[in-house]
Amino acid sequence: MEAERRPAQAPASHLAHLTLPAIPAGRGQTMLALQFQFDRSQWLDRASILDHQFEQLRVLVDHARAQAPFYRDHMRRAQIFSLGGLTPASFARWPLLSRRDVLAAGAALLARTMPSAHGGIIWNATTGSTGQPVRVANSALGALFQDALVMRSHFWYGLDLSLKFAAIRSGTDEAAGADWGPALRGTFETGPSVLLGLSEDLGAQFEWLCRESPAYLLSRGHTLHALIHESRARGARPEGIKALLSFADRPPDDLRMLAREVWGAPVFDTYSAGEFGVLALQCPDHEHLHAQSEHVLLEILREDGSACAPGEIGRVVVTDLHNFAMPLIRYVIGDYAEVGEPCQCGRGLPVIRRIAGRSSHMAVDVNGRRFWPLLNPFMWASTPITQRQFVQLTRTHIEVRFVAPRDLTSAEEADIRAGLISTFRHPFEFSFVRVDEIARAPGAKFEEFISRVDGPA
Ligand SMILES: [Zn+2]
Repeated sequence: MEAERRPAQAPASHLAHLTLPAIPAGRGQTMLALQFQFDRSQWLDRASILDHQFEQLRVLVDHARAQAPFYRDHMRRAQIFSLGGLTPASFARWPLLSRRDVLAAGAALLARTMPSAHGGIIWNATTGSTGQPVRVANSALGALFQDALVMRSHFWYGLDLSLKFAAIRSGTDEAAGADWGPALRGTFETGPSVLLGLSEDLGAQFEWLCRESPAYLLSRGHTLHALIHESRARGARPEGIKALLSFADRPPDDLRMLAREVWGAPVFDTYSAGEFGVLALQCPDHEHLHAQSEHVLLEILREDGSACAPGEIGRVVVTDLHNFAMPLIRYVIGDYAEVGEPCQCGRGLPVIRRIAGRSSHMAVDVNGRRFWPLLNPFMWASTPITQRQFVQLTRTHIEVRFVAPRDLTSAEEADIRAGLISTFRHPFEFSFVRVDEIARAPGAKFEEFISRVDGPA
């Protein structure tokens, strides 16, 4: 059963006169060594996974307090008096690290020296959906783990590496590749890949996709969503799509349904952040996500700092266990997520049921209480609306901005309004505005719900 998920291809052999079993070159060997361990560690129980994480965390903290001035006092502040005393219970007292702290700390967060085996420093800038960009230093080792997690995702989803891979994303000018890129290079020989910019217009993206007809398509959730709508509107579809891979945005709730219905393809989602890269991958067997605990310690916390129980939504707080260049320990990433029950698949990796969004995406009721709106994806199927965004303007008024080929009839408006009142479970007043497109800042994540109401975040 598990074996069916392995790629059909054997690794690429680096040795002359040897094809099988293959022996790749150095980096390929490291990647396979990591996959072998991931294969085992994913099945450990939660307690064992946590034990492994804390072993690595003690090494990181020891390095951080000695090398990064920012952390000099953190152990004392958390009332942890020896590395052995660093446990899940005492770590709960470790101060949280905000984006503002990172900006204020500047060079004090950087390690003066780094273990030489971790390789050189790589800088990443994050745009983030709010506020000033944060620049994060990481090591070549951190980048290696990122690639290893990408490889893991391909294994999990059973991708056939010999087929064509397409991506619509920003951040590179490489237009086409002989292979699937650096994550697999040197370990597997893959089919070709093609790349298109995220800023191309939708029609051009769709035509490109039909021309290329890749087996796999990677893009932001909302771009995939728009492409499927375009496909349905044109009555045409790209041939041969086997799976869609979404990243960056929280995918629209009806993306999976649409992808199955219109293209007959499943969607596999990745939760990532510029500061860390991959944080969680969709379970191969379910729609929820598994935190990538071999690389990050991901906590979901209540406002009082205690851990959320399954079914609760809290702040996502991340520790990168392998960034020795600029240690990020208990970094508040700005997203909110819902904790899930342990997964039926048997993997011990913690479950994130869904990413809820950021605090500015919480709705506010008439009494000023904030809550996460649950947006019913099924209510749109019988309407001409292809894309929508809710903007809460006051405590009682929500504007529904929508894209559609025509205006809504008053009967449709009344139907949608009734549906929204029952979905939101609050008697908001809804107004409707048809727009040509739903604009967002370049690089910013698309959000289905935005609140413009001031109040406690
Ligand atoms: Zn699972």
